[in-house]
Amino acid sequence: MKSFAFPGNIEPEILAIAAGQVPYMRTEWFSKMTLESEAILLGLLDCSNGRVIPYTASGTAAMDACVSSFVSSRKMPLVINGGTFGARWGNICHYYGLHHEEFPVPFGKNPDLELLADRLKSGKYDVLLMQHHETSSGCLFDLQTISQLCRANNVRLVVDAIGSFLADPFSMDASGIDVAILSSHKGLNLPPGLSFAVLSKTVAEAGNFGSKGFYYDWDEHLRNLSRGQTPFSPATHLFMQLHARLKKIQNDGVPKTIEQVKLKADVFRQNCVERGWTFSADTKSNCLTGVYLPFPVRPLINYLGKHEVYVMPSGPENMIRVTHLGTLDCHEQTMLANEIETWQKNAKQ
Ligand SMILES: *Cc1c(COP(=O)(O)O)cnc(C)c1O
Repeated sequence: MKSFAFPGNIEPEILAIAAGQVPYMRTEWFSKMTLESEAILLGLLDCSNGRVIPYTASGTAAMDACVSSFVSSRKMPLVINGGTFGARWGNICHYYGLHHEEFPVPFGKNPDLELLADRLKSGKYDVLLMQHHETSSGCLFDLQTISQLCRANNVRLVVDAIGSFLADPFSMDASGIDVAILSSHKGLNLPPGLSFAVLSKTVAEAGNFGSKGFYYDWDEHLRNLSRGQTPFSPATHLFMQLHARLKKIQNDGVPKTIEQVKLKADVFRQNCVERGWTFSADTKSNCLTGVYLPFPVRPLINYLGKHEVYVMPSGPENMIRVTHLGTLDCHEQTMLANEIETWQKNAKQ
C-alpha cells in the first residue's frame, strides 16, 4: 500500500505495537508512559510548563473540548475561516450557542492581515480561533504576524496545529499561543484515534474551566493527568504507539523531522511544475500539496485506490491533495506524479 493520504505509510515498528496484547492501563507503567509522552510533546512544541490533555478521539474532539472548556467562558470569539477546518471552529461555537463572528478567507489564500488587524483592534474580540495550516486548501497561515496582532490587542490565541505540527516549524512559546490542538494521524504519523489539547502554562495554571461538556471536561482531565491517568478508558495501544513515536522524533530532533517532509514536498512540487499543474495554496505547508489537475479527479482517485495508492480529494472537483508525511520517500513522490500523468494521457485518448 502506498498512502499519500493521512497519516501516510506508518513505520513497521510502530504498526507492530498494535498487534500485541493490550496491557492493563490503571498501572504505574501506564502513568509513567503518559507523563513521559506529555513531557516530550511539550518539548517538541516549545511549551514550557504547559499541559497536554490526551483524548481517545480524532482531532475534532480536542477542538470541541477547547470550545466547551475554554472558549465558552470568553465574551466574543473571532474565527478565521479559510476552508473546511476553519468552518468547523464556527460550527462548534454555534453548537454550544456561543455568539461568535467569522473572518472569511478565500480558499487557498492567506488572511488579509490589514483587515484582520482592524478587526482585532476594534476591541470587540477576546479570543481568536484559527488553523495554522488549513488542511483543506493546503494554505499555511502567517501565524507569526497573527500572533503579534493578538498580543498587541490582548486577544487570546487558539491554534489548530493538526495540519502543521512536525511538518512546519511551530513554537507555542515564541508565538504566545494559549491553546494548541494536535492529533495522532497527521504529523505524528500514527493511526487515527488520539487528539490533544495543549494548554500553555498560563491557561493550565488558571484552571477552573467550568466546562460545558462532560466527556471532554478539562478540569476532570487535568485532575487525572496529574497522576498520568485519563478519566475514561484510553486507547492503550495508541498511547503506546505515541510514546514510541515521540521517543524517535525526540531522538531525530524536530528540524530533521520537518526537513524530511519538506524534501519530499519539494520533489513532488517540482514534478507538478514540470507538468504544468497548478497549486491550490498561495503559501504552502510542507504537510501536503493541493494540486489542480486538468480533469475531474474522482475517477483517478478511484483508479489509484484500486491499486492501493491513496490520494485525497478536496472541495474543487479537479483538485487532489497529496501528503508528504509518512515513510514513502522522494522517489515515490515522482512515481506518483508519473502515474497521474499516465492516467491523464490515457484519459485523453
Ligand atoms: C485532520 C484535521 C482535523 C481533525 O479532523 P478529524 O476529522 O477529527 O480527524 C482538524 N483540523 C485540521 C486542520 C485537520 O487537518
